[in-house]
Amino acid sequence: MDEITHYIGGERVKGVSGRFSDVFNPATGEVQAQCPLASVNEFAKAVAIAEAAQPAWAATNPQRRARVMMQFVHLLNRDMDKLAEKLSSEHGKTFPDAKGDVQRGLEVVEYCIGAPELLKGEYTDSAGPGIDMYSMRQPLGVTGGITPFNFPAMIPMWMFAPAIACGNAFILKPSERDPSVPIMLAELMEEAGLPKGILQVVQGDKEAVDAMLDHPVIQSIGFVGSTPIAEYIYGRGCSNGKRVQCFGGAKNHMIIMPDADMDQAADALIGAGYGAAGERCMAISVAVPVGDETADRLIEKLVPRIEKLKVGPYTAGNDVDYGPVVTSEAKQKILGLVQSGIDQGAELVVDGRDFSLQGYEDGFFVGPHLFDKVTPDMDIYQQEIFGPVLSTVRAKSYEEALGLAMDHEMGNGTAIFTRDGDAARDFANRVNVGMIGINVPIPVPLAYHTFGGWKKSVFGDLNQHGPDAFKFYTRTKTVTARWPSGIKEGGEFNFKPME
Ligand code: NAD
Repeated sequence: MDEITHYIGGERVKGVSGRFSDVFNPATGEVQAQCPLASVNEFAKAVAIAEAAQPAWAATNPQRRARVMMQFVHLLNRDMDKLAEKLSSEHGKTFPDAKGDVQRGLEVVEYCIGAPELLKGEYTDSAGPGIDMYSMRQPLGVTGGITPFNFPAMIPMWMFAPAIACGNAFILKPSERDPSVPIMLAELMEEAGLPKGILQVVQGDKEAVDAMLDHPVIQSIGFVGSTPIAEYIYGRGCSNGKRVQCFGGAKNHMIIMPDADMDQAADALIGAGYGAAGERCMAISVAVPVGDETADRLIEKLVPRIEKLKVGPYTAGNDVDYGPVVTSEAKQKILGLVQSGIDQGAELVVDGRDFSLQGYEDGFFVGPHLFDKVTPDMDIYQQEIFGPVLSTVRAKSYEEALGLAMDHEMGNGTAIFTRDGDAARDFANRVNVGMIGINVPIPVPLAYHTFGGWKKSVFGDLNQHGPDAFKFYTRTKTVTARWPSGIKEGGEFNFKPME
């Protein structure tokens, strides 16, 4: 049985707390490795190393720091298949999806190569007589991040690349469900030229998270995961005086107007609803067709497409649409919510409950489900299912559809499918959700824009990546300078001889 390690002080270090959690192969259901769960002392050791290493890194000029990022991009491309293979084996997602996970992180690293430009300060010449004023962005010091299981490469890179490009040290506490890829990323950063101790990985659960929240040296915390944990981390981190940004769960609605291209909308829903087994914070989990006629046409297009979906292990080839969910508990939670949908009166149009794959009977596979006639009072509408289950809520009008997206407590992403520019524009302007797609089902902003939801999908002020990340990982310092020796007297500089 493999024993996964921490990555502390530039080395793979075995856990010494005596506590471990199982890492599964979700396709077979077998335990493939043990992940160590750090104690408060193990976490404190990483902090001491980071604290000692960070000042020299902050003093390294931004262009040299950017060169490390450049080299890291090269190494990510070199090891893409190796990273994707490990990622699929612990997470369960298909091989192309795993490569996409690495690729979307890599794009943020590419953006961070622009650190010298992005970190340039501001300058006001002659703000007063003989007075200049300038602002600079300085790193925070030792920063930390806590990441979810569903993007074990992308989300750590979204955090550590800007943190490190800005001159901080970064301690990552990844998900204990797929903990290997973050260690590989830390090794590649050092191969790219990063000094030891600037990027460390401490594996763990609540104990390590609480150690990060309470450690006085940690200046900032980034979190991505479920809303209840996001709320907890934001509250405790802020009350400890840290800078905190937390990104939580989602319930993303896609509105289908009567004039939409129905084939395009159905294709989009297949990818956005069932891709990655629905384990994406930007997955569409609610389809809102406007009008019964639109709903009937949509369901008619969706059913044959869903029936064609190929569910299987990542090893079965690139034509697999999605793999297993991450754990048996996740599978039980999804099936429990499906049952609640049936009990509460929704119509189960496609039933994936009996799905089973020959040779993989113990894997955590969940067949695709489609519900129709879901109403807002049902648990399947209110809760994030995080599985291959799409709910259809029929709206009588555009205003009713808009109201559904507006009234839901989550506000990560949403989309509208229409040919009507007025409706699309009105939707984008009025809806209280952070990321909007117009005929685009998963509107994930690219690295040079920022990523973030609204309402209970976020706690904090700044978004992830793009220019916001450079604000989050730096403090502004403003200097007002007067140089009395430079003041002219009678047209001449008043230079005094040096004594
Ligand atoms: P999770 O909240 O269970 O875990 C996230 C992290 O928090 C992990 O590192 C975990 O070890 C830690 N954690 C878990 N319980 C904790 C506790 N009681 N105290 C302290 N730390 C704890 O989330 P997950 O299941 O790994 O990921 C799925 C969730 O993440 C979904 O809700 C999804 O929508 C969300 N997500 C959001 C975004 C976004 O950008 N908004 C992106 C990806 C995933």
